[in-house]
Order: sequence, then C-alpha cells, then structure tokens
Amino acid sequence: MNPYFPGVVVRSAGSAPAVEELRLPEIGPGQVRVRVRAAGVCHSDLSMVNGTLTPPYPLVLGHEAAGEVVEAGEHVTRVSVGDHVVLNWQPACRECWFCTHGQPWLCSTSSGVAALENGITVDGDPVFVGLGLGAFAEQVVAPANAVVPVPASLDFERAALLGCAVLTGAGAVRNTAGVRPGETVVVIGLGAVGLSVVAAARAAGASAVIAVDVSTAKKALAEAAGATDFLVSSDSLSKEIRGRTARLGADHAFECVGRSATIRAAWRATRRGGQVTVVGMGANDDMVSLSALDIFSSARTLRSSVYGSSDPDVEVPALAADVLAGTLSLDHLITDRITLADVPAAFDRMSRGEGARSVILL
Ligand SMILES: [Zn+2]
Ligand SMILES: [Zn+2]
Repeated sequence: MNPYFPGVVVRSAGSAPAVEELRLPEIGPGQVRVRVRAAGVCHSDLSMVNGTLTPPYPLVLGHEAAGEVVEAGEHVTRVSVGDHVVLNWQPACRECWFCTHGQPWLCSTSSGVAALENGITVDGDPVFVGLGLGAFAEQVVAPANAVVPVPASLDFERAALLGCAVLTGAGAVRNTAGVRPGETVVVIGLGAVGLSVVAAARAAGASAVIAVDVSTAKKALAEAAGATDFLVSSDSLSKEIRGRTARLGADHAFECVGRSATIRAAWRATRRGGQVTVVGMGANDDMVSLSALDIFSSARTLRSSVYGSSDPDVEVPALAADVLAGTLSLDHLITDRITLADVPAAFDRMSRGEGARSVILL
C-alpha cells in the first residue's frame, strides 16, 4: 500500500478547502506518478469551490502544475523516471474526430471541466480529482499523455504556469485570434491569464494593448506585462476605448473573466468587424444578451478559446524554450509563493482581485 500524501480537498460547493491525507492508487499500465513540485492557484479552482462550476465532491483541487516523474507504468514511452514534466488537463487521445482534425484541445475523450474518480481515497472513501489531475497534492497519478516533458533547466514554479495560464493566454492571442502586427487589443480581466494575453499581444506586435480591470491595483502588473494603456472598468469604458482607437473601437477584445457583463463589455470595446475572444470560463446560467440587429450590423466575430486552441505537446515545450531564451518573461505573474495550507488565503486574495498567481511550492 502506498503511503499517505497531503492534498487540498473541498468537500462540497461553498465549503472551505482543507489539507487532508490522500492515499493514491498503484499506477496501472500507461500511467505515471508525478511528484508535484509547484502548482498555480487558478481561477477555475476557485470556481470549483464557490459553486460557479459544480464538479462531483469531495474533490482534490489543482491542475496547473509541474513536477518530476517518480514512477512510470507499463507501455509508457514518452517519459522516464526523473523527467521534469508540466501537467496537461486536456490530454489528447489522438484518435477521436477532433484529434484527427487538428483540434486536440477539444478532444472528446478527455476530462474537460469534469472531475474523474481516480482511485484516490480519503479515510478509505473515494475522492474525485479536478480536471482529471488533482495537483494540489504532493503526488498525482495520471495517464502518460497528461504530462509534457520540459527541460530540467526550467524551474518548477515557472514551468507550472505554462500548463494553464500561460498556454491559455498566449494561445488565445496566437492561435485563436491570430493578432497581427499593428492591430489594437483590449484585454478585460487581469488575472494570470489576462496578463499572459497582454504579454502575448505585445509580443505579436499589437500597436496598443489596453488593459482593463476593476481594480486600480492591477495597473503596475499590467504595465509590467507590456500594456500600453490601463483603464479601470466603468460605464464609460467603450467610450474611453474609442478615444484611444481613432474613434473606432479595438480590432480585438479578449474577455478573461467569464461573465456576461464583461463579455458584453468586450463586444462593445471592438470596432465594426472586430473580433471578440472569450477566454474566461463562466457559469451555465449566466446568459449573454446581444440584439439580433447588433449581431448582424456590427459584423463582429464572437468565439471562445479553449486551452488557447493549442496542442500542449507542441506548445508547452515551445513556451519553455521561450522562457529559457529570455524572450518570454513570467516573473511578473508570480506574486505569492505559498504552501498547501495557504490555498484558502490565496482564494481570498483572488476574490478580492489582488495579485496575479499564487504558486504552491511543494
Ligand atoms: Zn487553470
Ligand atoms: Zn481525442
């Protein structure tokens, strides 16, 4: 029998997460055991605690993480014991319709927002793992296609961010929206994903990157990420944005909150024919209202970006290379370094709109 490991478990929607002792299963064929070394506290984790998302409970939180492979099961060839890996919460089967048509981020066999029962127990009772991983724990057992090897020279805390926030933000700019040099960009919501969108838009050559948040405290973070302008969200937001975009509105708006009000704000922030990319994951009962005439006459495009429309097997190593080469800085994204027991306080900071990423170091 495997020893116990601490992990952060939430027992029901709205209840406080707490560190509990988990017993992980023996690994099976095609699986790996990863010793987690760093994990980022993502807004989706908070959504699984506060009831915005309703996974089955009890649930081990955490999906943005990096660590070291400590055991590899039969038939595992893509990684070996000792490899440093980033966890991938949308592993591709490479066989379904989406995988064979160039959209592995929509793979129909992977966990999506669901939680999977993974053979893990607390006090002998089964526990689900968030996004198929449950990475706020010292160890994770996952299918081998849910880990992506990265160079050992990349530190774990920056590697962890590549697995969700950075891949999501950079992919939304590069893959989903295809921002071109000289275009103008609005980014609404400046958590770690929004700040990653800001940085990627600047790197793509955007002439203006207008960063928007409800909190003035995000101004310095926005500027560190490369924003050319910072605005506090208000009723006159679309007017202020037109004032900065030759009276037109922006070519692109990225919504990184996941709420109907901010999706509408992103819609109004763009010019006729502009592109609105929804990156935030919202609630099932939060309806977005747009008039039929507005949809027709504005000629805007509204679409979502799931996991940055990316293939993590290709893009996580590419992003890791950019970080190591110094062309992609993630340092401004990490505002707090914490332990497993500090996760509830990290959720409180996130709820108050403070900081960017809290990273758990294990
Ligand atoms: Zn995430
Ligand atoms: Zn697939």
